[in-house]
Amino acid sequence: MDRQLNRDWRTPIRYPDPAIEVLDGRFARYVLGSAALERIWTGGRWTEGPVWFGDMRCLVWSDIPNDRLMRWSEDSGTASVFRAPSHYANGNSRDFSGRLLTCEHGSRRVTRTEHDGTITVLADRFDEKPLNAPNDIVAHPDGSVWFTDPGYGILWNYEGHKATPELPTRVYRIGADETLTIATEALEKPNGLAFSPDYHTLYVSDTGASHKSGHPHQIHAFNVADGKLTDQRTFCDLGSAMPDGFRVDMDGNVWSSAGWAGAEVDGVHVFAPDGTQIGAIHLPEGASNLCFGGVKRNRLFITAGQSVYSLYTDAQGHR
Ligand code: MG
Repeated sequence: MDRQLNRDWRTPIRYPDPAIEVLDGRFARYVLGSAALERIWTGGRWTEGPVWFGDMRCLVWSDIPNDRLMRWSEDSGTASVFRAPSHYANGNSRDFSGRLLTCEHGSRRVTRTEHDGTITVLADRFDEKPLNAPNDIVAHPDGSVWFTDPGYGILWNYEGHKATPELPTRVYRIGADETLTIATEALEKPNGLAFSPDYHTLYVSDTGASHKSGHPHQIHAFNVADGKLTDQRTFCDLGSAMPDGFRVDMDGNVWSSAGWAGAEVDGVHVFAPDGTQIGAIHLPEGASNLCFGGVKRNRLFITAGQSVYSLYTDAQGHR
């Protein structure tokens, strides 16, 4: 099927957009016939970490190799630099007070941007050793913040500063009292992470090893109780595609980035709560991460390669 991914992104295309694929009837209810995939920005090197600011009507994301955070305004449809240098920021999220949480490769730390703009360091070391390179982050309503530390940001000078890791790859939890604890070190390269709508499950993707090595490309699920993870299991397998960042909608579906698998596969893969893939959004670039935004949280924003894409859906992002 010609999904018309070589479109010029300025000429309107005929509905329904062939970039959106229903694999299971459960996905059809989220697809809007009169909504097309949009490329809202391009010109980066490796975009990541999208986060929506409803109060500002803007999207903030990372352009990691360019050492900057970008901002796109919904009202003007234009983008500008939000923060540079960003210390090679990667994943971004917001806490339950609306403050920006950021994983920084360059400074190998997790920060919180306060409402007045000052920056608080939430974590930069464990056992007196520097973190590897925090990758992605999510807040829990109990006041804790959870982040992954796979170490990609110190592999090369391109996305940070090359260095030898001193700690195992892990998921960490920063408690409301700011205590840093190990949540799990069971995954080879823990990367994206998100909670289920009831916060009883934490999903974490593993991008371990090379995509050619046969290492499975899976999102894992853990039970969350009393700040601890138990009962690890495989939630879904993306086959040839690599799952990086992802989000969960109000119905518990997991909308995952998929990349490094080629033109037929790259984009967004959507999984029902039982782990079955029910839909796909095909993109002309491999996706790294995504978030829901808009005042109704029904607009998907996807960072992919050098660009940022958007699609209105009838799903609603988890708050
Ligand atoms: Mg990531």
